[in-house]
Amino acid sequence: MAASQLFCYGEYVLYKGKSLYTVNEVQITESFQGLLKDLEHITYASYLCELIQISMQDEESDRSLFVHLISAFYFMKNEIADIEILARAFEIRLLESTGFCFELERCIACGKKISTSDYISCQYGGGICPDCARVNGRPVSYAAFNALRALSKMSFQNIYRVTLSAEVKEELYKILSATISQNYFKKPKSLETLNYLKGVIVNE
Ligand SMILES: [Zn+2]
Repeated sequence: MAASQLFCYGEYVLYKGKSLYTVNEVQITESFQGLLKDLEHITYASYLCELIQISMQDEESDRSLFVHLISAFYFMKNEIADIEILARAFEIRLLESTGFCFELERCIACGKKISTSDYISCQYGGGICPDCARVNGRPVSYAAFNALRALSKMSFQNIYRVTLSAEVKEELYKILSATISQNYFKKPKSLETLNYLKGVIVNE
């Protein structure tokens, strides 16, 4: 039964029945049961799984995204990365894998090269230059724009090296949540409880 537990990673031999699969054989590689030790880890690990669920079809496969998911679980298990930055970096990879890639090198409206930007178009998914109209998007600090670009460009394996201020993390959370809500049929729910609890603590 351990192999059917939450977050378990292993090799599964499945038998396809008429409408369901039966697990015939399992070899567990890593159970990740340590992630169940606190609310934050459970919530973020569930959130990453939920993102996969809402963005992909049943039986669809994406090897690269799978490797990012397992890497994220190892980072969380060993507590060697900022869990919020890890989630943001995973969101960016998920969006890229499912056909939504941020344009952060050129203005998304006119194509002019930009070194940074203080406005992101959520509709088109990219930075806007000072000469173009700012509609259907949100203002962003230069720090958050640059952080988004850095997280998009760097190898996922190096995410643990990144540190960001609480303000920049909050901005990235808002930009990416808005983009995810806009692009997928369902909105992820896993982080809402945690954000609610954090909000309660902050406002106390
Ligand atoms: Zn422009």
